[in-house]
Amino acid sequence: MARLKVPLTIVGGGLAGLSLATGLRNRGVAVSVHEAGHYPRHRVCGEFISGVERSTLETLGIAEAFEDARLHRSVVWFHGDQRIHENLLPSPAYGISRHRLDLRLVQLVERLGGEVLQGVRQPREANEGKVWAAGRIAGESPWIGLKAHFLDLPMLADLEMHVGANGYVGLAGVEDGRVNVCGLFRLDRERSGKGSALQLDYLRAGGLGALADRLSRAMPDEASFKGVSALQLGWQEPEPGLFSIGDAAAMIPPFTGNGMSMAFQSAESALDPLTAWSAGDCSWPEAVSSLQTSLRQRFSRRLGAANLLQGLLGHPLGRGLMNGLGRSGLLPFRSLLSLVRQ
Ligand SMILES: Cc1cc2nc3c(=O)[nH]c(=O)nc-3n(C[C@H](O)[C@H](O)[C@H](O)COP(=O)(O)OP(=O)(O)OC[C@H]3O[C@@H](n4cnc5c(N)ncnc54)[C@H](O)[C@@H]3O)c2cc1C
Repeated sequence: MARLKVPLTIVGGGLAGLSLATGLRNRGVAVSVHEAGHYPRHRVCGEFISGVERSTLETLGIAEAFEDARLHRSVVWFHGDQRIHENLLPSPAYGISRHRLDLRLVQLVERLGGEVLQGVRQPREANEGKVWAAGRIAGESPWIGLKAHFLDLPMLADLEMHVGANGYVGLAGVEDGRVNVCGLFRLDRERSGKGSALQLDYLRAGGLGALADRLSRAMPDEASFKGVSALQLGWQEPEPGLFSIGDAAAMIPPFTGNGMSMAFQSAESALDPLTAWSAGDCSWPEAVSSLQTSLRQRFSRRLGAANLLQGLLGHPLGRGLMNGLGRSGLLPFRSLLSLVRQ
């Protein structure tokens, strides 16, 4: 029997949950998104969206949300204070803040007749009709993610990546002349400071003093500062039977700039199984199994490659190798990029 009238519950109104809700509404499926927070809100995120195909955005019906996004092509890499590599991306990346993008997607879902409930936290349980899109599953982790927007910060390329001894940080322009500065660092209890001062302290501790000096001459928007810890990279392995998408299914290391693309791609992969379940054409366990097979096929290779590269970036020998290759013009940037995209 068709279940089209019974709303699917999507837990988590981040990019995965909201883009799935839009795609399902475009197919006439009733959805209700339950989000713990309130919009608009800043997120710890590099806000650099790379590797998502236009066809994915169109299938989900969210392409209009990107119409005025910044388009980024040029990339420069630094190791410590040394510039080691520059290149152009094979296709442009989008630059738009999560503050703006998530709100736009909420408005899109509501315009299409979907429901978005804010301030509602749901338990994680593998129930029929419940999609888990609540982001990464918290666990013990050596990482801390820190982000803040800066104004009056001249850029050296569309994307700047700075690799230090304790992590890395990306700088990318978003709307309204803002530059998003977002990094992943090894958690260090010795570091101190509030808001962007904490970010600068981590940068200096990792040997990125020149960048910290540049940032201290710009103007931080302290209201945009966010931090997150307890994040585990790779497959999240929630309980069996959970229909999970986005970071809740798998989290790729942030240096790839591909996590948001994976959120959209996993929502795209969820559309057919959920539409079939809603129409009564398959059981819930069949829908879960179909999604999981599709995500493994789509993401296993890039997750493996990205975890390997993340390990290299985290090791002095790996960073030394990258430095040497970069400075001698031998860094295979495009090949490495394609490894973490497919
Ligand atoms: C430091 C860092 C830098 C990054 N940089 C980039 C980048 O430059 N480019 C890129 O593509 N990706 C980047 N990412 C990854 C990207 O942010 C994620 O992949 C993306 O946000 C995943 O979207 P999502 O919808 O799965 O999860 P989220 O965006 O985390 O959304 C999950 C939502 O669920 C809600 N929620 C949580 N628990 C519950 C609950 N129990 N009930 C109800 N709601 C709940 C949360 O409030 C949240 O709104 C970065 C990540 C980090 C940590």
